[in-house]
Amino acid sequence: MSAENRADLRPSTRVVSLGRPPQDDDAPVNPPITVSSTYVGTTAVASGSRGYGRYSNPTWDPFEEALADLEGADVPALVYGSGLAAIASALDLVAPGGTVIMPTHTYQGALLGAQDTAATGCFDLVTVDIADTQAVIAALRAASEATAGLTGERPVLLWLESPTNPMLEVADMPALIEAAHAHGAFVVADNTFATPLLQRPLDQGADVVVHSVTKYLAGHSDVVLGACVPATAEVRDVLLHHRSIQGAIAGPFEVWLALRGLRTLALRVERSCASAQTLAERLVDHPAVGEVRYPGLPADPGHRTAAAQMDGFGAIISLDLGSAEAADAVVARCRLWTPATSLGGVESLLERRRRHTAEPESVPEGLIRLSLGIEDVEDLWEDLRVALEAVAD
Ligand SMILES: *Cc1c(COP(=O)(O)O)cnc(C)c1O
Repeated sequence: MSAENRADLRPSTRVVSLGRPPQDDDAPVNPPITVSSTYVGTTAVASGSRGYGRYSNPTWDPFEEALADLEGADVPALVYGSGLAAIASALDLVAPGGTVIMPTHTYQGALLGAQDTAATGCFDLVTVDIADTQAVIAALRAASEATAGLTGERPVLLWLESPTNPMLEVADMPALIEAAHAHGAFVVADNTFATPLLQRPLDQGADVVVHSVTKYLAGHSDVVLGACVPATAEVRDVLLHHRSIQGAIAGPFEVWLALRGLRTLALRVERSCASAQTLAERLVDHPAVGEVRYPGLPADPGHRTAAAQMDGFGAIISLDLGSAEAADAVVARCRLWTPATSLGGVESLLERRRRHTAEPESVPEGLIRLSLGIEDVEDLWEDLRVALEAVAD
């Protein structure tokens, strides 16, 4: 597909049409999988050339081009062996001795990784309530002062995740990105929950988007994969060098599955978001539920900000049932919902987040995170309603 006409197409068409082979006679409709650890050649093998299987694989290219297009990047994305591998690589962009600012309730693996690296003295880690714009701006100011003497590039890195996992706090993305740049900070946004169909952080000015491709992009709970989507060729070169040398690469079969999953992204997201809205509205009125967190609810603290910057409210709902016992009982009584961690697949999942000991204590003990799949919403509601009534008795 040529660069001129793709911009005219809507995102729900682009997920289907991007990353296809040219329409030549007898060409396959889908890109093939290349299974090879090395490539024929007589000149020097270098990072960035096809050369060797750690540098490049033709199976990665269509997915990397499609994801970059959807996120509004001019240079191809980079696929990694997991979301956390992509996140580790993006965190590596901060200058030695710099400061990383992260949301208190950012995805726990990203937070744990940053804490581990901060403990080695590579950078300082500051956590903030990402929904408190003034607090984030104050942290940016303090970090910019603290790193004033550093010579390395990107002395301050602002990590954005919105809505956050699992508290569903909404960051004012345009305001925070603008403030970050005014303070000389570099901005990375984890766009896993929203997907590029609902939110495009690069359009809002972010420097890199990261994804757990494992979730909505692949969409079938059958691959673990990640991606970085840099805004510029300069940052892409740095990330590509890291990936080639550190080796956190993806297998070709997983990337092929992710591209296959991407074809239905628009349908899946549309359906899951609609079901999430319906369930959230019904759950608000349920006597067994203490609090419902979903940015699509008009009374949700993040509603106005999300409405202004997103094209939909996502398909994750968090419920506070008041105690670990009540939450565990509801999870155990569901029959259709699968009790499992993760999110973004065609099947609806739920879990009590504090069952993970690493989850921050500020996440309520009784909080259940629901990931809406694509089943009939009435069947999902019926299963949940019966489970909730059992604990209300
Ligand atoms: C799951 C998740 C990750 C981690 O991705 P993996 O593919 O599991 O390594 C990062 N960020 C968010 C928001 C996630 O939900």
